[in-house]
Amino acid sequence: MKVLITGAGQDSSLTTYLHLVRGDQVYVLTRRRADGLTDQMREVIEIANKSPEFIYADLIEYEKVFNIVQELKPDMIYHCGAMSFVPYSYENPIYTNEVNYLSAYAILEAVRKHSPETKVFLPSSSEVFGHPLEYPQTLSTPLAPVSPYAISKVALMYTATYYRKVWGLKVYDFIAFNHESELRGEEFVTMKIVKNLVKKGHVVLGNIDARKDWGYAGEYVKIFNRVMEKEEPKRYILCTGVIASVKDFLRYVISKVGGTYEIDESLYRPVDAEGMTCDVTEVPIKPQYMWWDVADIMIKYVKDGIPTFPEVLGKV
Ligand code: GDP
Repeated sequence: MKVLITGAGQDSSLTTYLHLVRGDQVYVLTRRRADGLTDQMREVIEIANKSPEFIYADLIEYEKVFNIVQELKPDMIYHCGAMSFVPYSYENPIYTNEVNYLSAYAILEAVRKHSPETKVFLPSSSEVFGHPLEYPQTLSTPLAPVSPYAISKVALMYTATYYRKVWGLKVYDFIAFNHESELRGEEFVTMKIVKNLVKKGHVVLGNIDARKDWGYAGEYVKIFNRVMEKEEPKRYILCTGVIASVKDFLRYVISKVGGTYEIDESLYRPVDAEGMTCDVTEVPIKPQYMWWDVADIMIKYVKDGIPTFPEVLGKV
């Protein structure tokens, strides 16, 4: 099977690993970086002991992206590449939408015209519920985005529906709640907490009353794949059903590794999402890993260098 994955962050790398160990032909479309591969990609290649083929392009080089899809005609495309850091999107709203949303047209137009059997994964986010109009959120909860990031994901959802309904394409869009892993970047609060406490014994944080539904990205990536292989193309929602505050996560990690923290109000966001979780009866496959498991996985990796994703996604 031929698989095209965009991006080189957490989800892209874990998805790359999943398909590499299965022996699929894996292509990764990513920006060329001065410092080489991302840490996440380097780690999965080392553990899988093989490499995907890299195709270098920026997601906003739409024509290039279109041509790559036209040429490859992959069986599956995971469009995981995105500007995924919410605070950055407030200062860079146009870029955020160009990368996260408009790039999907380049991919989907190429699929529509040249490879209509390709299955396409589009990741949306719980951020689309913004200040949620109901709890827990479901596939029918009205969208109420409050950041350019969230707006880009809402637009992506409409695009998914458009290509499914009008052109009959096999598009799977997932409203995925936060998912973290040992390959999470340090700009996200979970890894920031774990890395700083393990390495420096101290962490400076913003709003620790913010509440999230954190799942394990290794498991989420596996669920995305299972659903695409076995289920019909439509919209799905994925969460654990368990909410915790940043403070809960912080206290749990402190109880395991020790350390102290302080609050810096300049790290607060203009608006913050509030305690979102979804209705687990709508989730296609129920996640087994809860937020405390995710914390344990991250600690094990940062402290002892032992990754968990090979156990979850398959060994070489
Ligand atoms: P997000 O949910 O995708 O935006 O993931 P983040 O990990 O960036 O943020 C999770 C939550 O933690 C947000 O509600 C933040 O307001 C809160 N938070 C509190 N302190 C920090 C911090 O120092 N860094 C980050 N990134 N988030 C923080």
